[in-house]
Amino acid sequence: SRIGELQLENTGIGDDKTQSALDQIKLENQIFLAFQNKEFELFYQPIIELKSRKIVGAEALLRWKSPTQGLISPNVFIDVIENSSMVIPIGHWIINQALKDLKTIRDHLIANKKDKVADEFMMSINISGRQFTHTDFVNNLEDLREKHDLPTKNIKLEMTERIMMDGAIALDALHQCRAQGYAISIDDFGTGFSSLQYLTQMPISFLKVDRSFVMKVLSDPKSRAVVSSIIHLAHAMDIEIIAEGIETNEESIVLETLGARYGQGYLFSKPVEFSSFMKML
Ligand code: C2E
Ligand code: MG
Ligand code: MG
Ligand code: MG
Repeated sequence: SRIGELQLENTGIGDDKTQSALDQIKLENQIFLAFQNKEFELFYQPIIELKSRKIVGAEALLRWKSPTQGLISPNVFIDVIENSSMVIPIGHWIINQALKDLKTIRDHLIANKKDKVADEFMMSINISGRQFTHTDFVNNLEDLREKHDLPTKNIKLEMTERIMMDGAIALDALHQCRAQGYAISIDDFGTGFSSLQYLTQMPISFLKVDRSFVMKVLSDPKSRAVVSSIIHLAHAMDIEIIAEGIETNEESIVLETLGARYGQGYLFSKPVEFSSFMKML
């Protein structure tokens, strides 16, 4: 099965390098075929202002709706996409779909006289390093944004610190995006390398505190200290905090007390299909 092959791939089992390379190509083909067959879909998870518990945005999360395997999480296949050239067409599709849905959300809010909510609503789109440092990234993004007639300030580009491995190219693209008015958010913060050095160089508007800290914020004083320090550091640099993976009301309250303004997690909602997200809104 596809998943069976994926797991085999991930374990690195198999001493025959040729066979493994062939498996990789087969897998890439299967994923690209699935993409062409329109088996990919974006789900949306609300981002909440912790104090008011109101929805202030959404994160677009990729799902593979396989006719034979059901709903497949990106954890299983995103690395294959990100490490191949198909990240460009698939990444383009993701941005287009997320912006199309953002347009629907904004039109709906404005039609219901919720202009302020529409004005502040942010759509977060996950961007991989290879996609971001591709020469045409900013131009393509701008084309799609103009096509959907959207303001840049409602669009948030979410990426991990790993994009900085591309150094100057990544930094240049970040500054271009920021200058256009897009928001930049650092995902999974605290799990990468040299976070503090990058913080001083990257034009960041949001930091997402990784779930691995959030899940221990009640039980482990050291994790709580790390979260508290990240929040203070971010605020001193005019960066807003989003806490990822909040599952309990207690976690939400502690994070709010520590100064986190925004949160996201199963406590509020799991990622849902677009139509369900619209109902929630
Ligand atoms: P991420 O960007 O850090 O997204 C957060 C992940 O945590 C999502 O998993 C989400 O469903 C999950 N999550 C949210 N709240 C909770 C919670 O309360 N508890 C638990 N246990 N999990 C929670 P998902 O959707 O499986 O995505 C996994 C990763 O795949 C993402 O992590 C992101 O790195 C990547 N990814 C997803 N969609 C895209 C995409 O469109 N493009 C790219 N490049 N990467 C994507
Ligand atoms: Mg993310
Ligand atoms: Mg994350
Ligand atoms: Mg994460």
